[in-house]
Amino acid sequence: MRRTNTFELRAFSQRERCLLLELLDASAACYNEVNYERRQAFFDVRENAEQRVPVSELRTAVEGATTQEKYRQRYKQVLSSSTPQQLVQKNWSTWKSFFKLLSKYRDPENETVTDKPSPPGYWKDGEQRVLHTVIRNDQYTLELGDRSRVEIPVGMELKEAYGLGHHERLRLEVRGKPHWTGKQGRLEIVYDRDAESFTAHQSVGDEKHPPHCRQSTTSSFPTTLATSSRGEGTVAAVDIGANNLAAVTTSTGQQLLFHGRPLFERFHEYTRRIAHQQSELPEEQWSSPRIRELYRRRDAQRDHAQDALVRHLGEWLANHDVDELIVGKLGDVCASHWSATVNEKTHLFWAHGRFRRRLDEVLGDEYGITVREESEAGTSSKCPTCESTEVHRNGDLLHCLDCGTESHSDLAASVNFLREQADEQHLNLPTQGPMARPVASRENTTEDGHHDYDQTVVPRLEWDDHGWRQPDHSTKEDPTNQSTTPGNLPSGSQV
Ligand SMILES: [Zn+2]
Repeated sequence: MRRTNTFELRAFSQRERCLLLELLDASAACYNEVNYERRQAFFDVRENAEQRVPVSELRTAVEGATTQEKYRQRYKQVLSSSTPQQLVQKNWSTWKSFFKLLSKYRDPENETVTDKPSPPGYWKDGEQRVLHTVIRNDQYTLELGDRSRVEIPVGMELKEAYGLGHHERLRLEVRGKPHWTGKQGRLEIVYDRDAESFTAHQSVGDEKHPPHCRQSTTSSFPTTLATSSRGEGTVAAVDIGANNLAAVTTSTGQQLLFHGRPLFERFHEYTRRIAHQQSELPEEQWSSPRIRELYRRRDAQRDHAQDALVRHLGEWLANHDVDELIVGKLGDVCASHWSATVNEKTHLFWAHGRFRRRLDEVLGDEYGITVREESEAGTSSKCPTCESTEVHRNGDLLHCLDCGTESHSDLAASVNFLREQADEQHLNLPTQGPMARPVASRENTTEDGHHDYDQTVVPRLEWDDHGWRQPDHSTKEDPTNQSTTPGNLPSGSQV
């Protein structure tokens, strides 16, 4: 399990600041040269072939385009011996992701990648290089305390130019308190030209050495402190649906719901317009620039909301100390949530394969949360309180005929899924009380007579074009926070 610490770095003097800028600039130059060689190899192979070149062949050509040793020799005097190798590896990881996408894009069976992926670009912003470097995990020292410091390696040429001793490293001041502590991974440093500041991203922990939350009175995530005392091993299960994109329950009894209907209605509106445009096309013509543009906009809107959902979920899970998320298998999800007639429509909308990929990428790579796939068959037709299967389902509402509990059906499914898949000893779910009852929304109350939940128990988020927020939260819960002017986040966004 891995987490990322992000903090600001400052140089102690103007001279050291210049040194750092030069180090970052040379790193970006190194990265871009590597990338140039690889792009050349890629385009050479592609353009000199008579037929379409298989992805594996393109990959071999790009991988063999250059060597780490070449760049180590070329840059070690400036960057030190280890950093060029890190940059070559960093570049290769972007190529690997690109080839994965390309394979999916070319695979007619796979709908998750519909836009043709582009080969990795340069570390450039307009005409300027993006100042960025990557330091190997064993090559820097981070000391935290009242005066936090980091020391990074510098090549001999830069040491001489800036007056550092031969065995000295560059010392920088660390601003802010990193949340995570544990086995240190690599350190990336990026310079923001607008803010004129250096930001460091430190990866912490790995499979065998999970990171710990640093106890801190100045933590910007108070919820982390509230739950970290429950110990490690918090697990969550997510139920993925069409009306409710994701319903999540953690083993400590926390819940969250991402409501998808308004988003789906907008998606559907695009689909309707596309169908209309298609009906106007002349014989033998299947598409038009207008239609392609509608498709593009429809999918971009969905992808944007989906990416934001995954990120919001990752943040929320991390704040609740979750290190494993259980998700339903793709086939199960389709079978349990979609009837044949709406299957294609909702499948396209939800782009489940893409969602799963983003979950793995963002939760796995950025939050170090393991994503585990299990069968969720049967979880949506059981009472979350007494586990009776004598239930009646009506839209979002699940009514238990045995104990009388009324619960939200997707949240109930996530509770049941979690019960089935997590170790009993780790579960700390409330046995009584209002589990699986979301905050009411006005839309829901008009749906049918049953949906008049009045308990504000589970945050229920909706997409507002910018983020996932609780639409009626500020007025219902907190009369002092009624302002929803842009830039002033409603309190629902805090969950
Ligand atoms: Zn029951």
